Amino acid sequence: MRLLLMGPPGAGKGTQAVRLAERLGVPAISTGDIFRANVAALTGLGREAKRYIDVGDYVPDRVTNDMVRDRLAQNDARHGWLLDGYPRTPSQVNELDRFCRDCGHTLDLAIVLGVPERELVRRLLERASSEGRVDDTEAVISHRQQVFREQTEPLMEIYHARGILKIVDGRGDVADVTARCLLAAGRDRDAVPTT
Ligand code: ADP
Repeated sequence: MRLLLMGPPGAGKGTQAVRLAERLGVPAISTGDIFRANVAALTGLGREAKRYIDVGDYVPDRVTNDMVRDRLAQNDARHGWLLDGYPRTPSQVNELDRFCRDCGHTLDLAIVLGVPERELVRRLLERASSEGRVDDTEAVISHRQQVFREQTEPLMEIYHARGILKIVDGRGDVADVTARCLLAAGRDRDAVPTT
């Protein structure tokens, strides 16, 4: 299965991506995590990405698209993947379409985690105190929300028009949200809530 997990910053994409990928037997590929790993390892990619991440802007498409293409070409992604946080721009949508076409693959599903804005900010500020992510300050959070609304929210229409968009309620228990996502993915039998 090949699917996307979309939603605003703070919607719980990262948490759900790992849980869903495990249940679906595909790798969870998070562009945010790959960037952060590169920043921590002080690679050239990390140095370039850090300038954008720190202020809440998107890393340029050229950099992001190359990185995702390399990652999707790896062996563990041959039979499926779950993309968390990609695509976020029209150029990224096109790049992913091109990749799928080149490989003869189809995108099966785009799940959007829906969470009200007030709840998103509360979650991100809570994460700021527990995880200390540099981009979880109030000013950067608000900028990330704005960038999401302007650049990424409109992309949902594309997947809606293709008939593969499903909106899942992202509020409540982590396990309940996972169960709802599995239902959306047509894996009802796997959708028993787990801790
Ligand atoms: P969130 O969804 O909470 O903003 P992520 O961990 O997904 O967090 O992303 C953190 C940062 O990494 C983003 O603000 C952006 O700078 C960069 N990033 C992640 N994915 C992409 C992408 N697909 N395109 C451009 N930049 C990205």
